[in-house]
Amino acid sequence: TPSDDDEQDSQRVRVAVRLRPKNTDEILSDADFADCIELQPELKRLKLRKNNWSFESYRFDEVFTETASQKRVYEVVAKPVVESVLSGYNGTIMAYGQTGTGKTYTVGTLGKGDVSERGIMVRAVEDIIGNTSASDSVEVSYLQLYMESIHDLLAPEKSNISIHEDPKSGEVSLPGVEVVKVRDLDSFMQLLELGDVNRHVANTKLNTESSRSHVILMVQIRRSILGKKVEDTTCRDESIGNNLFVKDNKPMIQKSKLLIVDLAGSERIDKSGSEGHLLEEAKFINLSLTSLGKCINALAEKCPHIPTRESKLTRLLRDSFGGSSRTSLIITIGPSAKCLAETSSTVMFGQRAM
Ligand code: ADP
Ligand code: MG
Repeated sequence: TPSDDDEQDSQRVRVAVRLRPKNTDEILSDADFADCIELQPELKRLKLRKNNWSFESYRFDEVFTETASQKRVYEVVAKPVVESVLSGYNGTIMAYGQTGTGKTYTVGTLGKGDVSERGIMVRAVEDIIGNTSASDSVEVSYLQLYMESIHDLLAPEKSNISIHEDPKSGEVSLPGVEVVKVRDLDSFMQLLELGDVNRHVANTKLNTESSRSHVILMVQIRRSILGKKVEDTTCRDESIGNNLFVKDNKPMIQKSKLLIVDLAGSERIDKSGSEGHLLEEAKFINLSLTSLGKCINALAEKCPHIPTRESKLTRLLRDSFGGSSRTSLIITIGPSAKCLAETSSTVMFGQRAM
């Protein structure tokens, strides 16, 4: 039946690809190269050069050319997830790609000078604030995950935060993490700014590149849906415990959670030349991105078991993907012929999710 199809369809990971516009360097230095990427957005198709005479073709749920606006990317990739979170389901939006291809631009731009530049985090929270009432609660946490250790970007003294999983409901929580109520967009933007400053300070202190860590915005929504019957709500979630809480048979609180993740750069780190700390770092990044790949693979293949235990990243995502949760992955690629090999491996990561 069509409703079964819808159900099935909402469970899989939706994958969009976005091409970054050429920068000045690329315009100048790529002049001698034949173009290696061809987009056919109306067919939702991307073609990558295989050799001198042929291209390989890939289909995605959506293909964004270099002229796609932030607004359109939000509406196509993120808005459906945000809407489902507003109706009581958990959801995840992730950006995956090589460093320099536009993950942070897509996800984290504040757009202070130009609101049209705003990225997914700001637009999602704007949508959530606009669609909840004063009696609902919207809370955010902002985290960095680096070398299998979680740091609180809103309270930098807190690091090595542990992940707790409720054995009954499967609900994932982070005891002790800073949780801030947001009521308006301005105060949320200030939190993001504070987090980004803290991230910069921490990375300078640890002497780490920001491209080596994952950044996670967690938005938790609690809505009272008093006076409605359980059958009337869209909360029918049985697979991951129940997001619906009934007290004394009457007042009900609908809980849901949105994770927006700016992943570490997907480029392969040359382990052969790395030693000590850098080698450890390379292993950890491989661990979290590899285990993420395994999980989205398992989701795509409708495996009953999603192997989320292998890394902190996937443990954190556990109750926000699969089951009744909605997941969108946006893979970002650069236009340069010089990084065709990395682009190709990014595209393959995206393909395995479909
Ligand atoms: P990443 O986070 O993947 O390392 P960034 O988001 O920092 O990459 O992007 C690298 C550079 O390219 C930045 O200067 C960014 O502003 C620019 N950029 C990325 N995507 C776009 C886009 N779609 N339009 C305009 N500029 C972009
Ligand atoms: Mg970035």
